[in-house]
This record gives sequence, C-alpha cells and structure tokens, in this order.
Amino acid sequence: METTAVRVALRVRPLSAKEIAGRDCITFAKEEPQIVLGSDRPFTFDFVFRPEHDQHNVFHTSIIPLLDRYLDGKNATVLAYGQTGSGKTYSMGTTGEAMPGSASQGIVQRFASTLFDRLSQRTSTSYQIYVSFLELYNEEIIDLLGTKKTESLPAIREDIHGQIYWTGVREIQVTTADELLDFVAKGSLCRATGSTDMNCTSSRSHAIFSIALKQQITDSDDPLLQRRLVSKFHFVDLAGSERLKRTNANGDRQKEGISINTGLLALGNVISALGDETRRMSHVPYRDSKLTRLLQDSLGGNSHTLMLACISPSTADYTETLNTLKYANRAR
Ligand code: ADP
Ligand code: MG
Repeated sequence: METTAVRVALRVRPLSAKEIAGRDCITFAKEEPQIVLGSDRPFTFDFVFRPEHDQHNVFHTSIIPLLDRYLDGKNATVLAYGQTGSGKTYSMGTTGEAMPGSASQGIVQRFASTLFDRLSQRTSTSYQIYVSFLELYNEEIIDLLGTKKTESLPAIREDIHGQIYWTGVREIQVTTADELLDFVAKGSLCRATGSTDMNCTSSRSHAIFSIALKQQITDSDDPLLQRRLVSKFHFVDLAGSERLKRTNANGDRQKEGISINTGLLALGNVISALGDETRRMSHVPYRDSKLTRLLQDSLGGNSHTLMLACISPSTADYTETLNTLKYANRAR
C-alpha cells in the first residue's frame, strides 16, 4: 500500500534586488531536507529547494515522479502555496511567459514538452490530450478558456458512483506542447487580479490549469487487445496566503480575502486528513469549499499530490513565512 499520497516541497526563493542582502531568516540543514526559521524553529519536508536551485531542479526532483505515474493512468495535483511574491507563479509557470527553452521555464512548460516527448516514444499508444483552465474567485468558478457566450456556467457535479465531474467547462484538444502553452498564456491573461499594497499584480484567486490524457494502448502480445487509460493532472496556483491585515484590504478586497481563506482553510483540512491513516478512511472534508470539491478526485484515493510551499527568505516576511511553514507542516 502506498503511504506517500501527499508530499511537501519547500521552495525558498532568492532575495530580490529590493530586499536587503544579509537580512534573511532561513538557514539550511546540511544533509537533510530541513530548514531553521530564525534561530530556533526547525521544519522538515520531503524536499527543500534552496535559492540556488533552479527550475530544472524543481521539475526533475519533484514533478517527474508524478509525470511517470500520470502516464500510467493515475491522477496528480501540484499546489503552489504561499504569500504573494513568494514565487508561486514563477515556479508553476502558469503565466505562460517564459520563452521556449529558457531557463526560467516553469513546471507547466517543462511538463508539456516532457509529456509530448514521452508519448511520441510510445509506438503502441495512441492518445488525446485536452486542457482546461479555471479560476476560483470568491467561491465562483470562471472558465478562463470559455467563450463570451458560454452556454452554461461551470459547475461541479457528482454521478451515482460518487465520481466528480465538471460541467460547463471548456476542454480543448491540443496536439503539441506549443499549442498547449498557448492556452496557458491565453487563460492567464484573463485571470482576475486585484492590486493590494503588497504587490500590485497579486492574484487574489486560485487558478487551476488541467491536462487530461486519454490513452489507447495496444498490447504487443495480442494486437487485438487494447487497454484504455484516462488520467488528469492539475496545476494549481493558489491565491496569496497572506493575512488581510497586512495588505490593508477593505471593501471588495476584504470580501475576496475572506472567501480565499475558505478555500485555503478547507484545503489544509483535506490535506491534513489525507495524511492521517484513520481519518483518510473515514472522513475527508472535501465539501467545505469549491476548491476542494473541484479537486476531489485528484486529492487522495489513487492520486498523488505535491504541495509546493513557497517562501521568501527575507526577515521582513518572517510572520507570513512562519504561517506558510506551519500550514505546509500540517500536510505531512
Ligand atoms: P507569487 O506568484 O507567489 O505572487 P511570483 O511567482 O510572481 O510570486 O514571484 C515574485 C517575484 O519573484 C517575480 O518577479 C519572480 O520572477 C521572482 N521569483 C520568484 N521565485 C524565484 C526564483 N526561484 N528565482 C528567481 N526569481 C524568482
Ligand atoms: Mg502569482
């Protein structure tokens, strides 16, 4: 039986040019995936990526194992968690901005090219790939690839077997990595952003980019025998985890903050339940938010989840960093 359904990777971004050199509050253990915040708060994770670890490193260490399982027909989810400015979107690559082949290409770009490479090497497999891109904003689902006059609003439904499915969500077939990445770029342009004191382009919403893979595999022993595999991979760029006070939010922005916390809170509870053998068997509270409901069939069960917790090394961010480390620690 597999016991590592949820893994947690911590990524510490470099200090930015605006931040003061030498004013950082993270130290790294030599041999273990462990960090110490300040002078006395140690945290251990499945992986720790330091500021000098690049995009290639993150992809190869933490994503390739999920890609391998995905090609074998299993679902997977990667969740980027952290305060605004901690490196979620940079890591995920969900802006679709990086040029092909550039070192700053994020997880989605690397995933797309590796996926098509691997599939093209499988001579006895035919396949179809579909993408969708959703945004969750104030517990409302927005189809980022939807057309202006969408027939029906996106909704989450459950069939008689308890399987979750989405309706009113546009799924677009793609045949190359470039085509796939065009839709990442297109969708992220539509993403609602709101400016706060902390970061004028901070995203106050969750973005879920999904790649569905359908494979028909012909067995070499018996050419008439065909196996079918269907799997889904979700790339989730979560809303900033910072507390409202810090961003001086009010009015509409405050309303956003409250429902964003609903999703992150519910996600934390689901992931913590999945990590607990007895609770995993009895009750996982998927129904507490749209976010966990949308991802229900890709969190737990046969699926593997990677939480990529992103933090800033700056002393100025100590409080939010501590919050992120505590949140990520619950997932283990
Ligand atoms: P978030 O999505 O969490 O708000 P971003 O991904 O937009 O944060 O990152 C904030 C800034 O820091 C961006 O300018 C980004 O390019 C930069 N950045 C983040 N992580 C790294 C990293 N590991 N290496 C270099 N630059 C980074
Ligand atoms: Mg972002």
